[in-house]
Amino acid sequence: MALRKVFFLSFLLFTTCGMVFAASLESRHFDVTLEGGVEKSDVLRKIRLKMFRHLSAMSMDDSGGVEEMLKDTLDEIYMEVQDTLDIRLESLRVKLIIVPDMAAISDVIESYYGRTTRTPSFYIFERNTLYIAESELNAGMLAHEIAHALISNYFPVPPPTKIQEILSGYAEYSVKKNS
Ligand SMILES: [Zn+2]
Repeated sequence: MALRKVFFLSFLLFTTCGMVFAASLESRHFDVTLEGGVEKSDVLRKIRLKMFRHLSAMSMDDSGGVEEMLKDTLDEIYMEVQDTLDIRLESLRVKLIIVPDMAAISDVIESYYGRTTRTPSFYIFERNTLYIAESELNAGMLAHEIAHALISNYFPVPPPTKIQEILSGYAEYSVKKNS
């Protein structure tokens, strides 16, 4: 009896922690993890576009709920960046991890590289993973990092860093106009 109680309690604790610390969703191009209590609705509010050019008008109303709108918005931004750069990787999927703030990004960078860097977002090609701080998030920033993912996966020999930044900056600017 006592044992069962312990199991039950630990199960409760585990599921509660899971709910608080990480939520996930899958869209066509992203495996998304929301860490540290980041809310889907907050992410959606920050990256919402004025106009969807690639997806149906269904995405513009609330009929599908927050999760569906968030998936559609992420994929729309991905497709917008593909168009802008004319780099098409239709089957590419990217891991997108959204953490609460820049301190959390710093912790991730430190765990990978053993040093700290202040940045609101970054993409690691070796892990095909894009990290973004929800506190700084906007559609342009997401487009910038998606551009890095597309460029890194498209060219057998990646272009110089400076060229990558110019292309990513251009994608950021184009999406910002529509957000
Ligand atoms: Zn960049």
